[in-house]
Amino acid sequence: MDGLATKADYAQALRGYQNAVEEMRSPDRDEVERADWLPETREGDATGFFPRRRVAPRAAKDSRLEGHDPPQRVSSLAIPYSTPTMICGACERELPEDAYSAEQRGRRQSIRRCEECVDSGNQLVLMKKGSTRSEEDECPICSLPLPLDRKQSSSQVCCMKRMCNGCVLAAHQRGIRGCPFCRTKKPKKSQTSQTLAMVQKRFDAGDPAAIYLLANKYDRGKYGLEKDVARAVELYERAAELGVKEAHYNLGCTYYEGVDVKKDTAKAIRHYEAAAMRGHVAARYNLGCEEYNAGNYDLALQHWMISASLGDRDALNEVKEMFTSGLATKADYAGALRCYQSAVEEMKSPDRDEAEQYKRDRRSRAMDRSPDDGELDQYFVPGRERWPSRF
Ligand SMILES: [Zn+2]
Ligand SMILES: [Zn+2]
Ligand SMILES: [Zn+2]
Repeated sequence: MDGLATKADYAQALRGYQNAVEEMRSPDRDEVERADWLPETREGDATGFFPRRRVAPRAAKDSRLEGHDPPQRVSSLAIPYSTPTMICGACERELPEDAYSAEQRGRRQSIRRCEECVDSGNQLVLMKKGSTRSEEDECPICSLPLPLDRKQSSSQVCCMKRMCNGCVLAAHQRGIRGCPFCRTKKPKKSQTSQTLAMVQKRFDAGDPAAIYLLANKYDRGKYGLEKDVARAVELYERAAELGVKEAHYNLGCTYYEGVDVKKDTAKAIRHYEAAAMRGHVAARYNLGCEEYNAGNYDLALQHWMISASLGDRDALNEVKEMFTSGLATKADYAGALRCYQSAVEEMKSPDRDEAEQYKRDRRSRAMDRSPDDGELDQYFVPGRERWPSRF
């Protein structure tokens, strides 16, 4: 500190510090530190090292909080003199640590609330955003929200539009050949290089949906591409930056599983949260599981209530189970059930029912195909997502 302490003060502080550091060291501890830089081992491995939690850097000190004048020059020996601050996940204000209860202080920013927000019942931004389906979840032809089961809709590589099977079937029955939206003739399933060329064209034009689709094909080694997860992650990240919630979700799954990339649960959760805040239903469900497993039942319930109200049956069952085990009220469950039912109703249409029936019939007469089947099948190829991380 500039002229506010003597040289003797500093020398004494330095001696004390060095002794304390020495006391905290041991050969074993040094070993653990080194191990942290080794390639990470998965849970259950014999070595038993888990990734260390990285402590977030403290927010910059704000001298205004305590009414001091800001220091003229930052000294490397500056001693913290103001309370560290944290951002509240509900009001998004940066507040001193003591504005939070001890329990809330231990939480990550997205699920932490200041005392004031807890008292007034101000909800987390994480729960306020994405509680309805987004516009891009609507079928561009019938304008109804797309079914949650991705097998009941398909992406067209010509225009990158995702449409429900009901509209695909209806267009086919009206004699429309080609994409039901833009009428472009689609290459046959076997013509993967032509399909890839069409995606590439949209990709080159910077279409986020094409970036996502290509990432997905690298992820699974489709369209004649060799499976390349590193490339897939890179493209998912680009698509995620452009707001594609499915890309966030797939990144979440990839980092959570940690099979093809280094496992990173914190990163996975950040991606699930980004997806959920854009209305991604499975990501929302997974966050519910995560909070439930962490013992944050109030947050788990909030996530599952949202997920159920968007039409997710698994989430509805979780809310029901929480009700039967006394962790949710009867009103919670009744509310979730009501919203779930209306979401399911909204996703229904006679054309969609007919498309499902058509697929069932197709399966039962697989040996007896009509020439028309092949043509229509091309449009029933679902653009898949990863669905493995339902716990
Ligand atoms: Zn707050
Ligand atoms: Zn439709
Ligand atoms: Zn099209």
